[in-house]
Amino acid sequence: MNTQKPITKVAIVGGGSSGWMAAAMVSRFLGPQLDITLIESSAIGTVGVGEATIPPIRTFNNVLGIDENEFLRRTGGTIKLGIEFENWGRQGDRYMHAFGDIGRNLGFTGFHHYWLRGQQSGEAHNYWDFSLNYRAAKNHRFQPLETIPNTPLCGLVHAYHFDAGLYAQLLREYSEARGVKRIDGTIQQVHQHPDTGEVTELTLADGQQLDAELFIDCSGFRGLLIKETLKVEFDDWSHWLPCNRALAVPSETAAQTTPYTRAIAHEGGWQWRIPLQHRNGNGLVYCSDFLSDDQASTRLLDNLDTPALGEPRPISFTTGRRRQQWHKNVIALGLSSGFLEPLESTSLHLVQSGIVRLIKHFPHRGLQSAVIDEYNRQSQDEFEKIRDFIILHYHLNQKHDSPFWRACRESDKPDSLLRRIELFRTSGLVFREQDELFSETAWQQVFIGQGLIPEDYHPLANELPGAQLTEFFRNLNTTFERTVDQLSDHDAYLQQHAKATL
Ligand SMILES: Cc1cc2nc3c(=O)[nH]c(=O)nc-3n(C[C@H](O)[C@H](O)[C@H](O)COP(=O)(O)OP(=O)(O)OC[C@H]3O[C@@H](n4cnc5c(N)ncnc54)[C@H](O)[C@@H]3O)c2cc1C
Repeated sequence: MNTQKPITKVAIVGGGSSGWMAAAMVSRFLGPQLDITLIESSAIGTVGVGEATIPPIRTFNNVLGIDENEFLRRTGGTIKLGIEFENWGRQGDRYMHAFGDIGRNLGFTGFHHYWLRGQQSGEAHNYWDFSLNYRAAKNHRFQPLETIPNTPLCGLVHAYHFDAGLYAQLLREYSEARGVKRIDGTIQQVHQHPDTGEVTELTLADGQQLDAELFIDCSGFRGLLIKETLKVEFDDWSHWLPCNRALAVPSETAAQTTPYTRAIAHEGGWQWRIPLQHRNGNGLVYCSDFLSDDQASTRLLDNLDTPALGEPRPISFTTGRRRQQWHKNVIALGLSSGFLEPLESTSLHLVQSGIVRLIKHFPHRGLQSAVIDEYNRQSQDEFEKIRDFIILHYHLNQKHDSPFWRACRESDKPDSLLRRIELFRTSGLVFREQDELFSETAWQQVFIGQGLIPEDYHPLANELPGAQLTEFFRNLNTTFERTVDQLSDHDAYLQQHAKATL
């Protein structure tokens, strides 16, 4: 399908996080060449969750020119240095997927090989003692720190927790200032070209008509254009990731806001806790085959750190992805493009990378099959790698008394994941594949944190004489300890630089 018609008019369907993120980025980069309209329905509303992020969100905001402190003030935001996983390997276990590096690689040899050697030779240290992010998170410390002065070590790597509705509001102001038009109305009819099947026009409940050449479907789980109109099929991954429900409830803010997300496993799924400046975000993700809605609600409300500020709100979902995320003249972003549960806070990142990919592949001179195919290939690859990383958390559990966790451990896994597990188990090797989101350090933390200690390590780690290995660990330990001691308290930092103005 190749057309020579230049694209000048774009309609964004939906004003949740994905719609406004798309509007902001597309108007920032392509604004002068395009006529952009966003349609959202206040009658339908948004999914209203999506408050924990990963570090690339900083690039997104930086590229838009949004000042970090202003952003935190406007969204009630806090700093996120990692995700703490509680009860995932075994009941009572605790580890963190801390952002940033752990330790220091020497030459070609990753730090974890030295750590593994240390474990075997009596130099046993907690792996996370060598993570600056972990130490800062657990000590409630934060301040911007790109590198540790006078060392080759990188500093803190952070993301944010924020109020999704307030972020969308901020991006709306940004986009409208760059010419994006907004319509509040409900789309009732979608018109297609009789020959090509491309979407041509939308009719709203009040009779308004909107035509465009390119449509960005940000309409949420409903997938108004990609699913309901173009009937693009969905690859259902619920046999690998069986959780299919969530309950979300805000609660009062805690006395101290932790600079990390908590993901606490329970008998039929897990619970999140996301601290904001003005409230906590909480939710329970579960599989309805193993936990009833009533049980889930009780579990959630009984396990809040602070009093609830309302009733739990149910959300149903199916894990998987749209087979083509770009079909004809429709590109799906956000929940309409697929869904991976929020265990590693990846959904907004997928929106972000989808938008960047769209800008790179933008069909200025018309639609080209080769361009669409490449966009879809990259999107699929990205989804699959993140999927494997999330499945790993469920698979590597040793909880033998729970039917849910037993099923998660024993069910089939994608070959791509099994290969990685076997490689790490036998050799300690792990590699980041091209353009993959999660780093080698991220994979190692989940492997080690959930009890998969490799049988071997790289022999190059033996080249360091024993005394130097001891010295190496001691120096790193001292450096991280001293650095953390000098950092600001997280709450004090927010109070001074980014106190919420809500
Ligand atoms: C339980 C849960 C927890 C999550 N937690 C995280 C997290 O911690 N981190 C993270 O990155 N992501 C998270 N996500 C994902 C995140 O919430 C979404 O990726 C994000 O909110 C984007 O949603 P959206 O904009 O695609 O859809 P929505 O927010 O549902 O927005 C859809 C928009 O389409 C509009 N619309 C729909 N139909 C019509 C119509 N007929 N006419 C006009 N407008 C219409 C709606 O009004 C709305 O504006 C979570 C998701 C779930 C379900």
